[in-house]
Amino acid sequence: MTSILTPTPANLTTAAEALLRSRVVAIPTETVYGLAGVAFDEVALATIFTVKERPTFDPLIVHVPTPPGDADVHLAELGLLDPSLLGPKARERLNTLAKAYWPGPLTLVVPRGPRVPDLVTSGLDTVAIRCPGHPVAQELLATVKRPLAAPSANRFGRISPTTAAHVLEELGGRIDIILDGGPAHVGIESTVVSVTDPPQILRPGSISKESLETTLSESLAIAKPNATLKPQASPGMLERHYAPGKRFVRLPAPTSSLTDEAVQRLQTLVEGVEGPIALICVLGDARAAATHLRELTGRDVLAHSLSPSGDPNEAARNLFRTLRLLDSTGAALLVAEPLPAATGVLLAIVDRLSRATVPL
Ligand code: AMP
Ligand code: MG
Repeated sequence: MTSILTPTPANLTTAAEALLRSRVVAIPTETVYGLAGVAFDEVALATIFTVKERPTFDPLIVHVPTPPGDADVHLAELGLLDPSLLGPKARERLNTLAKAYWPGPLTLVVPRGPRVPDLVTSGLDTVAIRCPGHPVAQELLATVKRPLAAPSANRFGRISPTTAAHVLEELGGRIDIILDGGPAHVGIESTVVSVTDPPQILRPGSISKESLETTLSESLAIAKPNATLKPQASPGMLERHYAPGKRFVRLPAPTSSLTDEAVQRLQTLVEGVEGPIALICVLGDARAAATHLRELTGRDVLAHSLSPSGDPNEAARNLFRTLRLLDSTGAALLVAEPLPAATGVLLAIVDRLSRATVPL
């Protein structure tokens, strides 16, 4: 039986005791809900992979409390970081970024320390570390007094959960405890940055490339998503991910300016299914696009904008919730308007949407 627990001191103690008995617990963070286990406990780590049905080549992020001083010293003391493999530039990047953004939605990839099990890193010689900003995650870390490995609390390849109810949908019956910290405030996974040379963004998130570059006074490359399911330099960045159960296509142009050929492809797709179409727009009013789509297909169209007022942070917060909602409606086909040219948090939204969709 899976219980959703409010984060009272007594329930936090119950969750911490479960973690210390090698159990896994779903926890709120400001990005998405995580499925946590003690990072040094191989039984707990193996359980995370089984519960999520996650392939072991996809490494986990280790969550730590806010470092009291320089991050490199703290992480080395915990046995998470090997400081001898951190060059002076990388050390400076780690400490600067940790100081600027922790606690918060930024994951830093560093040379792996001696206490980190292979299961955490998928055998890589680096480890990903984050200090979550959600007060419940921080309180739990303080109670357990161990780093917690926590990937998103969804089955592999599916939509990340941003509420306790989503976790229940994903993992109900498979875990005992979900700590309920309310809806995730950021709503999209952390930005992942490798601090060793050359520094790069391995996964875009709500902390933008522009902001990181300003903080570091240097430019960052963005790693390309991986096309295939095999071990590689930036595991987990798979081309197909975050996917709803239904067919989800992205349009090559706005509904008002599709070529005849694209309209033909769309109509063929629609003929193959029954029922209404769900349309998702990232920013702005979705109604005009819905009207066009209705005219082109002759089907009812349920239109959803991630932020009708055009606020990218609101769009990030609504992304996974909306995908989950559309997946559960009667819509036979999901369609995304073309993704905007992206900077800032929009880059992360476009990244997730392009991996949740296939081109028309
Ligand atoms: P999630 O399961 O969404 O919490 O994300 C974990 C992701 O962090 C992985 O799928 C990778 O993209 C990234 N990650 C974790 N560890 C590493 C690492 N050592 N090197 C590169 N990327 C990593
Ligand atoms: Mg995930």
